[in-house]
Amino acid sequence: MVQPQSWEQRAEEFSMYGFTDLPSVHERGTVVVTHGEGPYIVDTNDKRYLDANSGLWNMVAGFDHAGLADAAKAQYDRFPGYHAFFGRMSDQTVMLSEKLVEVSPFERGKVFYTNSGSEANDTMVKMLWFLWGAEGQPQRRKILTRKNAYHGVTAVSASMTGKPYNEVFGLPMDGFIHLTCPHYWREGRDGESEEEFTARLAQELEDVIAREGADTIAGFFAEPVMGAGGVIPPSKGYFQAVQKVLKKHNIPLISDEVICGFGRTGNTWGCQTYDFMPDAIISSKNLTAGYFPMGAVILGPELSDRLSAAAEAIEEFPHGFTASGHPVGCAIALKAIDVVMNEGLAENVKSLAPRMEAGLRGIMERSKNIGELRGVGYMWALEACLDPATKTPFDSKLSVSERIANTCTDMGLICRPLGQSIVLCPPFILTEEQMDEMFTKLEAALNKVFAEVA
Ligand SMILES: *Cc1c(COP(=O)(O)O)cnc(C)c1O
Repeated sequence: MVQPQSWEQRAEEFSMYGFTDLPSVHERGTVVVTHGEGPYIVDTNDKRYLDANSGLWNMVAGFDHAGLADAAKAQYDRFPGYHAFFGRMSDQTVMLSEKLVEVSPFERGKVFYTNSGSEANDTMVKMLWFLWGAEGQPQRRKILTRKNAYHGVTAVSASMTGKPYNEVFGLPMDGFIHLTCPHYWREGRDGESEEEFTARLAQELEDVIAREGADTIAGFFAEPVMGAGGVIPPSKGYFQAVQKVLKKHNIPLISDEVICGFGRTGNTWGCQTYDFMPDAIISSKNLTAGYFPMGAVILGPELSDRLSAAAEAIEEFPHGFTASGHPVGCAIALKAIDVVMNEGLAENVKSLAPRMEAGLRGIMERSKNIGELRGVGYMWALEACLDPATKTPFDSKLSVSERIANTCTDMGLICRPLGQSIVLCPPFILTEEQMDEMFTKLEAALNKVFAEVA
């Protein structure tokens, strides 16, 4: 029960919650967090939780990295804030752009800053509309994404997001088209091989382009691994097949690397893990290891040139946020990139990913109610299933994944229910010992809930 005058009650009385199951909060109360230690968070009752979701995928260096906090403090002392308009920008902004292009898969490129991943996707859409318009094809406005994709919550990025919950806002807006999710286990047909599934999706793209007209389409956006869709790696050969079609019709491929970027999949970029070269990259979340709100559009050579030419023609690119390229955010991002790449975090993901997969596979094999284990690097999902043999889900009224996540929370482990799956995306600093703690608590919670419902 929530006590009067408690933190929980004060939270509920004055705060509006986003993406939160309200009946469950009324019953269980809000977890009010005061601080963190490595991959753990601590609440107002001094309860410790291993956060196997890195906050919201982003706190990859943990919750008390001294170097990141010091970089922020030093920059606040030096120069606490500035914009990037009117031909001025901070030295930190200059250095970060250089760095981002250096670590990008592009031989050259240009960077534009936002405050979030949603705004970075929004900005990319406006860039595409702007440049097609400038090039005499203003009718090229439609945006292609996939069902189950997550690209954010602003009106444009929510329209790109392929989730049914946006219907309550009357979204998507016109001209946002959602293709089939490349989830072979769920979307593949009886007797269809994975290669045939991929070919069918490439053909679907071809058909949609033919139906809509290639000259009405501005761009195609995709996460290398769908994150908030439930950790869905692409089917075999998916990006190669899709990019071939897009190239034929001169449609840019934008890689939304807000989750995958900076090491989550075991390489710096998800497009490297899946071996394709996008035309631009969207970054956020890990960009500052979660220590500052910041997003970035990283344009590859061709889009850099085309966008620069379009801007030169009207003497400006009329877009930008007050805090775009904020010097403190840029100083933190510079440090975060250094921490992830040079303090062993990226290596840790690469070297421990097989151990994580093996541990989760063991849990799956010992349980009768896990249908699929999927993921890569440090992002995995276990799909709860009433009958794995027939892929029959649990009755949604049972809220199985929510119960599992709540049981984990009670045991001091944070994980996330997404559909009927449980998502695990721990900070990159997670050690073998902490990984074992995650396995033990997760398995205990799964066993408890499956015993109640199956
Ligand atoms: C989180 C996320 C976004 C949105 O980022 P916000 O900072 O929450 O606006 C966009 N794309 C992907 C792939 C994400 O995971």
